[in-house]
Amino acid sequence: MNKTQPYTSLNLQPIAGTWREGSTGRSMTVSDPFTSEPLIEINLASKEDLNDAYSRAAQAQVAWAETGPTARAAVLLRAAQIFDERHEEIVDWIISESGSTRIKAEFEWISAKNITLEAASFPNRVHGGIVESDVPHKESRVYRRPLGVVGVISPWNFPLHLTQRSVAPALALGNAVVVKPASDTPVTGGLLLARIFEEAGLPAGVLSVIVGSGAEIGDDFVSHPIPSFISFTGSTPVGQNIARQASCGEYLKHVALELGGNNPFVVLADADLELAVHAAVVGKFLHQGQICMAVNRIIVEDSIYDDFASMFIQRVSNLVLGDPRDIKTAVGPVINQKQFSGLTQKVAQAKREGAILAYAGESEGLVFAPHVFTEVKPHMELAVEEIFGPIAGLMRAKDAEHALELANATQFGLSAAVFSGDLDRGVQFARRIQSGMAHVNDIPVADAANIPFGGEKNSGIGRFNGDWAIDEFTTTQWVSVQRQPRQYPF
Ligand code: NAD
Repeated sequence: MNKTQPYTSLNLQPIAGTWREGSTGRSMTVSDPFTSEPLIEINLASKEDLNDAYSRAAQAQVAWAETGPTARAAVLLRAAQIFDERHEEIVDWIISESGSTRIKAEFEWISAKNITLEAASFPNRVHGGIVESDVPHKESRVYRRPLGVVGVISPWNFPLHLTQRSVAPALALGNAVVVKPASDTPVTGGLLLARIFEEAGLPAGVLSVIVGSGAEIGDDFVSHPIPSFISFTGSTPVGQNIARQASCGEYLKHVALELGGNNPFVVLADADLELAVHAAVVGKFLHQGQICMAVNRIIVEDSIYDDFASMFIQRVSNLVLGDPRDIKTAVGPVINQKQFSGLTQKVAQAKREGAILAYAGESEGLVFAPHVFTEVKPHMELAVEEIFGPIAGLMRAKDAEHALELANATQFGLSAAVFSGDLDRGVQFARRIQSGMAHVNDIPVADAANIPFGGEKNSGIGRFNGDWAIDEFTTTQWVSVQRQPRQYPF
């Protein structure tokens, strides 16, 4: 039996080595999106709190980076063990705070745990090298070292996983971290992880979490002189603004951007229709469509379009909506009223633009029922913008080349899927899609701790996971040794 006591005082923030209240004198209430019940009230952090966190992180990082690789790995391994010991507690918070269905919450829990386990291997995988030199008697060494202090900004949709995706590798590689979680999900986006790392033995001050408004402390979070790397996951407009600040501000910083998507799901005429329809429904409606990799445009070849549309609508009409705690529920609530209203506007706009509303379920509370539009054209909002909700848009392609043209007609390039009965044809098609990730005969929603994750075009810069994360969360230094005096030109 699990005798672990649940964490308490989650309203406090780990700032500069102590758990304390934010000092703005203002607070916010975090509520359950399905029940509307208040979960926790948190006093918001100020710019002074942020400065304390960064200053202490800079001090604490020095000793942490000097901690041997085995000891750093042990903290990560212990954290992964705590994920197991506190499985129910963590999953419960994911469901309550972000309105995730149990299916999605379990998926998020295992993803965050796996990334922790993978990061535990990083201290013993990072290495430098010796490079040959044209200068006689010179030895050129390349050292890899931590970046120093890393600022992590994360969104509300997969808060635990997407925060841990930056925090775990950053810590494993000897950096200190300050996290700013999204306002809807401060517990799963940071406070819970800080408790886990504290329990796992991470020294105080190496990890701080600042809960505050993005509009109020966001600029300082990015432009503060201490962090040398900003790892941002969120929407494209906010990410572009952060990139401008990080690369054109007074202090230049490394930046990783994991941004929005407009992911094509292409069904070629030779595809297994049953398989493609099932995958399209899961890839579209998992977590109410609030996933950066979710299916955004379903592009189907003309000869199978009508069959695909009727099979798709049939399957969508059978989805169970409602209470995310019920294991049978496929579609739970969206995160908040603002998101719900935005989706209502998208439906109205799609109708105005002439798309055909072929199916609409009944919404209740914040549970926005699935909507399916057919005959979506490339200029319509549903095709141009990231939907981030349970609205599906089907587009008709004349043939495979036209399907490819439609797939690439977007500013985004995160993930993609193509269904074909011929796997080699599928691979050739996938390789011509301008995206960081593309899947043949599977959903575009996929992430694994050892495989490169990231986008092209306006979906971002940089790659997470495995060796790619080791590159992102360290920097190199060239140190040369001139073993004998050399001949200078004058
Ligand atoms: P968002 O951009 O509104 O917010 C993300 C984070 O940025 C939040 O913590 C927010 O408080 C903070 N923020 C807002 N304004 C800021 C500012 N001026 N300075 C600093 N920080 C600021 O995004 P969201 O609504 O939380 O998340 C949804 C978006 O995230 C979607 O576009 C989705 O595609 C994207 N996303 C991308 C990935 C990926 O890996 N590519 C993963 C998940 C979500």
